[in-house]
Amino acid sequence: MWQTVGHEWAVALLARALATGHTAQAYLLTGAPNVGKTHLALELAAAVNCTGDAPPCGQCWSCQHIARGTHPDVTTVEPDGARIKIDQIRSLQRDLSLSPYRARRRACIITDFHLATTEAANALLKTLEEPPAHALLLLTAVDAGLLLPTIVSRCQALALRAVPGAQIAHALATRWGVPEEHAALLARLSAGRVGWAIRAAQDPAILADREQHLEMLLALLHQGRAAKIAAAEDLGKRDDLPDIIRLWQAWWRDVLLVRSGCEELVANVDYLDALRQWAARGSPHSAAVALRDAETALTRLEQNVNPRLAVEVMLLGWGIAMAA
Ligand SMILES: [Zn+2]
Repeated sequence: MWQTVGHEWAVALLARALATGHTAQAYLLTGAPNVGKTHLALELAAAVNCTGDAPPCGQCWSCQHIARGTHPDVTTVEPDGARIKIDQIRSLQRDLSLSPYRARRRACIITDFHLATTEAANALLKTLEEPPAHALLLLTAVDAGLLLPTIVSRCQALALRAVPGAQIAHALATRWGVPEEHAALLARLSAGRVGWAIRAAQDPAILADREQHLEMLLALLHQGRAAKIAAAEDLGKRDDLPDIIRLWQAWWRDVLLVRSGCEELVANVDYLDALRQWAARGSPHSAAVALRDAETALTRLEQNVNPRLAVEVMLLGWGIAMAA
């Protein structure tokens, strides 16, 4: 039985393809980080190779080894550092050229393919043009628009959307034993990203980090120029800087929602009082400007602009927006 939370239409489509023997040779699963792309890809690899009665049964040798990441015929390729490199694709091509050891289909899951170098993407294109008959290629990416159109056109695309909060909360409570109130909070904070919600339920450090980063934001907003520049110096050295900026971006989105009278839609429900205070401050456009500044900072980070500089410009801009 499929265990994927949400994405029913995609599961139905894959289950039907499996039942009729018409699975594609390559799939492209797109959607926000942690929305469930890799999980669904692994379930498909399991379903294709399952020997149980209701694939993916989760019980047979194949299903269990795929879930543990120890199946000899199922490989996962992740970005090596910031990119997927050509050597990784070459190694995958060598794997795929061999007959499966135990599986029906040799499956390869390549995550975050939007991070592939041009050389790596072109190399994979050759495999997609003439895939070995026993191969099953499963690509994930945040957006199909970031890939070569020739890659996209050779895959069956499944665009995964945010999973409704009520569904995430229900799954956390019933399958992971999370107390209902906490499940509801995690579902809200996850903004439809099931994977994030499950990890946050299992690892309290994730919520503690979030709280610490929100407190840092609130403190910074009260501080002057020198403190912001010093904070940018520290933040610029952090590997999780994009995640922190995304969290702060969600904060400003919430301020905007409160200001627009849509409190029921805010993500950071446990910070509603602070959100109301900030919604009552600044000019009507200040939260929108802050939100845009965060987006600009994220884009700059992707373009390899000096992280300290990107975050400094953003923080100083927030000071001006709030004073306006
Ligand atoms: Zn099975």
